[in-house]
Parts: sequence; structure tokens; C-alpha cells
Amino acid sequence: MVSALTAKTNPLHQGIDRYDAVVIGAGPSGLYELHLLREKGLRVLAIEAGGGVGGTWYWNRYPGCRLHSESYTYQYFWSEELLDEWQWSEVFAGQPELERYYNLVADKYDLRKDILFDTRVEALTFDESADEWQVRTDQGNTVRARAVVATVGMLSAPIYPDVPGLDSFEGQAHHTSRWPHEGVDFRGKRVAVIGTGASGVQVIPQIAKDAAHLSVLVRTPNYVLPLRNRPLDAAESADLRARANEIHDRISSTMLGFTWSPEPKPTTDYTPEELRAHYEKRWQEPGWAKVFGLPHDILLEDGPNKTYADFILEKSRPRIHDAELAEKLMPKHAVMAKPADYDIDNYYEVFNQDNVDAVFVQDNPIEAITPTGIRLRDGRLDVDVIVYATGFEVHTGAFKRIDIIGAGGVKLKEVWNDKVVTYLGLMAPGFPNLFLVGGPNGRAASGNCPIAFEVAGEWIADTTQRLVKGGYARLEADPVAAQEWGRRIEQDGQTGVGARSEVSSYAYGTNVAGHKRQFLAASIPLPEFNTTLREIAEADFTTGFILS
Ligand code: NAP
Repeated sequence: MVSALTAKTNPLHQGIDRYDAVVIGAGPSGLYELHLLREKGLRVLAIEAGGGVGGTWYWNRYPGCRLHSESYTYQYFWSEELLDEWQWSEVFAGQPELERYYNLVADKYDLRKDILFDTRVEALTFDESADEWQVRTDQGNTVRARAVVATVGMLSAPIYPDVPGLDSFEGQAHHTSRWPHEGVDFRGKRVAVIGTGASGVQVIPQIAKDAAHLSVLVRTPNYVLPLRNRPLDAAESADLRARANEIHDRISSTMLGFTWSPEPKPTTDYTPEELRAHYEKRWQEPGWAKVFGLPHDILLEDGPNKTYADFILEKSRPRIHDAELAEKLMPKHAVMAKPADYDIDNYYEVFNQDNVDAVFVQDNPIEAITPTGIRLRDGRLDVDVIVYATGFEVHTGAFKRIDIIGAGGVKLKEVWNDKVVTYLGLMAPGFPNLFLVGGPNGRAASGNCPIAFEVAGEWIADTTQRLVKGGYARLEADPVAAQEWGRRIEQDGQTGVGARSEVSSYAYGTNVAGHKRQFLAASIPLPEFNTTLREIAEADFTTGFILS
């Protein structure tokens, strides 16, 4: 049943029930896709669950939330005007600045008029008789579209501990990615933070400043690297602006779209002294230099990885005064077996404060959330506030939380419960005209998200225009190509230190309780991914996809 949009949802779209394309989400990728599709003269509607633009930077408003990519690499490069107009205040911008940036973009390109805010897409059903998707929202509307671009975000499906009683807690409970707009006052409160991943490491020092008592529930201590953030002055900003093309070319050429790419020279080409000096040099540099600016075998081989792990631990241990506690807070797995975390030089120091303690839940697991706090196997923790820094169902969650029914009535989440199969992470066989952005086993929007999505976003816009204006009914992933792609990915997922590690990691879906282990990330370098997309278009979709 199709129902036209109402004035309540967006007056400018009142009475419309059919679009060329619907974009789901108004984050960094969704905003760009909306802009591109409109530039092609297509009728587009974007549907956003949040009340504003920015996606991850709208939702993750916890104190301390900040970029791990250099700001000037995590931006749009498609508008000279925008590059002229905007200057980043810090090397690694904080959430408020990023939210301001995406609001500026939305205003400057008049994107808001084609976005339905506070509206969540609940279901997508492919109507085979019309080769269109029916898009149903939680506001009671259903619109039709030839194509759907699901720019739903990799970090938008939060997960909570798989224990009973979550709803029984009578204090305040907040997931880091569902933070209240008015903020949280921790002064005088007993607080528990569950999780010490990237979000936990950012939020814990902020909460520790105010809380009467903070209990940090640590399950798997991870590597915490110094971010090396600092303000950018006017001269630096002018220089960065002048070098925007050079920066763009550099990050487009690296494996993950970051400034740094693993060095071809292995550790064995260095003497121990040279290697140590190299580690020291990178340690002082900003962000991902400390992981991706090093010999590539560190990420592949256990021996080289151990030399670097030892170096990091040597830097980290002295930051905690209590030697026994320090040892317990040191990671035991290989560096990057799960993504490293970053702090602004204050995470470990927090454990020296009198108002902070660590609870090691690997030995003493959480059994339940109770009205007064957290029940552990040995004892209980009564608190006023629980902060869940427990992460996301990264590669698949946001898609699975929409009831997606493709050709032949096949449900995406049922197919994926068995085995996740996509072609290039962009389309799943049996789900025509549905583009999965940040989809499993793809490169679009993973790594340094905006640059990773640049070519893919343009490719999706060109392809959608072709579909709509070229008189085609369907574009779908060729099942044979998808199977081959899956085999390549499976092989890739068997190499590197992460493959041999038993530590939970969203790259393998094992951070979600009950998930089968499957490599869900992608190891294809960004330049190769982009070249593949271009070649497919040049070959007129005769490889990998079926255009009918
Ligand atoms: P995460 O890295 O998956 O960390 C989740 C944490 O919660 C882990 O320490 C995990 O422990 C713990 N946890 C989960 N369930 C638990 C349970 N039942 N009991 C105890 N502990 C539990 O999630 P995240 O910190 O939100 O980060 C996710 C990704 O988001 C990052 O890798 C990064 O890509 C991105 N991120 C980026 C930024 C940035 O760029 N500035 C900031 C934040 C996040 P285990 O390790 O034992 O599973």
C-alpha cells in the first residue's frame, strides 16, 4: 500500500509517492549521494532517522568524541567553494565541529528540502511487477523508488551486552552513540562505563573529571595510541587549503584512504636500532602514522608484530602508577588484531585517580543489569549512571535492522544469517537496484569514510541515472561474481595477525554475541576498488553486474 507523503513529514514533498531514488541516511555519504543524484536531474528523497544531518557525527555526541583521521583528510573535496570557506580548528576535529561542517554543507547545497528527518525506514520490499522498491517508514508512509541507496552507516546499529535486565535499571543509561542532546551531568554520580574500545577510551577521561566514582568495566584491554591532536593556525590552514589537491591525490592512493599506507619495506630491512628509531619517529606523529606508517609485515607476521607490541607496551605501562594494575590493562593480543584506540594523552592516567577503578569482567563477567546497577558473577556494582560504550554491529547491523525483502520474497537478514554474500560490498544478489553503502566486504565508506565513498558515490549516481533514464528495469549483482568475490574475501580474511587471533573483532563479526565468524571487512585497496568500479562502467556492466 503506497501512501503519499504528508505535510507533517516534509511540506515540500507533500502528496508525492514516487521517486527515482531514495537515499537512506543523511550522514557524510548520504548527503553527498543526495547532492549527486539531484545534480543528475533525478527526483530524490533522503530519509534520515535523526533530527539533523551528519550521521555518525549527529548521533555520537558523547564528550570526547573526535576524529581519528586528520580533519583535512576527512572532508569533501568535490567543492572548491567549500574548501575555500571551511577551515578546521584542530588536526583531529571534535564532534561539535564535524556536526557544524555537515550542517554548513546541507545549507550551502540546499539539501534539507529533500530530507525527511526523524523518520526511520522500517522496510524495503521489491515489487517485481514494477521493478521498484516500496520504502516504508515508521511514520506510516510508503513511497516507491526505482533505486534505493542505503547510506546507513557502518557505526549506526548499536549493541548492548547480551545479559538480562537492561530495561530494569532505574538510573540513567546511555549508549555512546545515543547520547542525549542536552548532555549528561556526571557531577556527584556513581558511574559505570562498559567497554574500552575507541568510544570508551574517548569518553572515560571526560567522565572521570566529574563523576564521584567511575567504575570502568574492562573485558579486553586494547592498544591505546596517542592521537597527537593540536590546534591548526591560520597559516597552516592556508597551506592545507593550497595543498588540497595534493592531499586528495595522496589519500586516494592509499590502501584505506588515510594519509598513511603500510610501507612495502619489511622490518627485516631494518637493523634493530633503525627499527626502534622508526617506531619512535612514528610514535610522535599524528593518528594512524603509528599503525599504517610502518613496515607492512607488522600487520601480517607475528614476530614483527610482537616487536611493535612490546614497544607500545613499554610506552604505556609507566603511565599507570600501580604496576599490577598496569599489567592487567595491557593488551595481550596482536596489534591491530582489532582496531587500535586513540587517546589525547589522558586515558591511562585516569586509572591513577582516586575516584576511578577498573573492573575486569573477563574474570568476573556481567551477569545482569538490575534496578540498582550491574550484577557481576562475584559481587554487584550499584551506580547512578551506566554508559554503554559497547560498540556496534558494524558491517551488517544497519541493513539487517531494516526488513529488506528482495526478488522472490527473499529476506536479506535471513540470507545473511546463513552467510553474508555481496559483490564488492555494493549489492547483494537477489536485491536489484539496492546499493549497500558500507556493505560487508566492500571498500565504499570503510577506512577513511568520505574519500572511500567519493568514487563509489559517483559511480552509484551515474549508474542510477543510467538505470532510470536509460529505460532499464534492473541492475543486480551477478551471483557468480558475488560467489567469486566472496571466495577472494574469505582468502584475504585468512591472512594477517587478525585472522590468527581469537580476540573479538567486528572485522569478523565476532563482537556480536552469537554471530558466526566470517570476514566481513574488505582488504581490497581503495585505488583497486575504484579502478574496478570504473572498469565495470566502461565495460557497460557486462562483468559483475547484470543490467536488464
Ligand atoms: P568497540 O571497539 O567494538 O568496543 C566495544 C567495547 O565494549 C569493547 O571493549 C568490548 O569488549 C566491550 N564490550 C562489549 N560487550 C561487552 C560486555 N557484554 N561486557 C563487557 N564489555 C563489553 O566499539 P567502539 O568503541 O564504539 O568503536 C567501534 C568503532 O567505531 C571503532 O573501531 C572505530 O572504527 C569507530 N570509532 C571511531 C571513532 C573515531 O574515529 N573518532 C570513535 C569511536 C569509534 P571486547 O573487546 O572484549 O569485545
